Amino acid sequence: MSTARDVLNGVDRERSIRFPVEKIRQDFPLLANAVHGKPLAYLDNAATSQKPLAVIEAEELFYRRDCSNIHRGVHELSERATRWYEDARTKVQQFLNARESREIIFVRGTTEAINLVASTFGRKQVGAGDEVLITAMEHHSNIVPWQILCEEKGARLRVAPINDRGEIVFEEYERLLSPRTRLAALVHVSNVLGTINPVREMVEAAHRRNVPVLLDGAQAAPHLKVDVQALDCEFYAFSGHKLYGPTGVGVLYGKAGLLDAMPPYQGGGDMIRSVTFEKTIYNTLPYKFEAGTPNIAGAIGLGAAVDYVNGIGLDNIAAYEGELLAYGTRVVGGISGVRIIGTAREKAGVISFVIEGIHPHDVGTVLDQEGIAVRTGHHCAQPLMERFKIPAATRASLAFYNTTREIDVLAAGIRKAKELLG
Ligand code: PLP
Repeated sequence: MSTARDVLNGVDRERSIRFPVEKIRQDFPLLANAVHGKPLAYLDNAATSQKPLAVIEAEELFYRRDCSNIHRGVHELSERATRWYEDARTKVQQFLNARESREIIFVRGTTEAINLVASTFGRKQVGAGDEVLITAMEHHSNIVPWQILCEEKGARLRVAPINDRGEIVFEEYERLLSPRTRLAALVHVSNVLGTINPVREMVEAAHRRNVPVLLDGAQAAPHLKVDVQALDCEFYAFSGHKLYGPTGVGVLYGKAGLLDAMPPYQGGGDMIRSVTFEKTIYNTLPYKFEAGTPNIAGAIGLGAAVDYVNGIGLDNIAAYEGELLAYGTRVVGGISGVRIIGTAREKAGVISFVIEGIHPHDVGTVLDQEGIAVRTGHHCAQPLMERFKIPAATRASLAFYNTTREIDVLAAGIRKAKELLG
């Protein structure tokens, strides 16, 4: 069996040395744990990533020292909590290169961000006979909200096809942007295939036809530099928990002019300027979309996660993860009977595969006994499974704290699964 050292050439090895993965791993306490008596190899990062101490400690410090509600109290704790929460918003604004911090709405995650747009902007924009365009590689959370909207409005959901490598068929995508298209909702990076879509070009093509675009960045924000001004998308959504931050917090970016014109998503405290029984005047952005007490600790943790990721640098992260992906693709793809699903030319660190004659759930169970955490199933993308004519797949998804050693462990686990189940 070849190992990392055998496969990596001189240049790659040099880069690995420059990327201090072992030092970085020490920032993630969970990674040192054993599972079933084996060292943990955590390769389920597309589902959720592990948290660095900086994030854990920021949340803890908030609860130990500054816990209070925001935007309401005049007392010291409330002011500190408000400052911390709003600082996190500014960090996210800079992280996405948004023009203004009021364009950053804290939500529960990508799913809520998309639902917010569907039930406010979507409800206003889409009418009977109109169309919403998505792609064949969407996560359920970028399918179902649009289906609900289309059903309610008598509109039609159109789906841009992909090729066998898992890449968008661009001409078909362009063709499907019709005079009836009211919105294109597109995944930036596929959670199953790893495909990095040419979203800049896709946004441009949509704008040529005056179609606004929402990008689902759940799998992009943790792995590549996102610049919403350069992308020029109308909306961008991502989840904190996949970006090494806490669960239950995420972000919707929207262009200020659009957000301003949109009706509110939920009614309640904080989203109002004044209320009488006759009439409510809504608050300004971003508060208009943040009804009720938000996940304050979560937003603070997300701010710490953004700082942490910036400290390593997304360019360094993308380069190192690219190395890991190339290595993993060679090692896993080289095992007889293994077929990799998703072979796009532009790919992020996702290796989904099927093994001839063995159900992915059984593979996952054997790997689990070896201390390897992978995902098995349809990955919340059932239409994509159908497109590839498979019921399910096993997915190893990478983060910058993974190592070639863990990929070797995965490959050994796959061989063992084949021996036991094949
Ligand atoms: N979109 C994509 C591409 C995803 O991979 C996921 C989660 O795996 C989501 C949306 C939904 O994210 P969340 O469950 O954090 O809302």
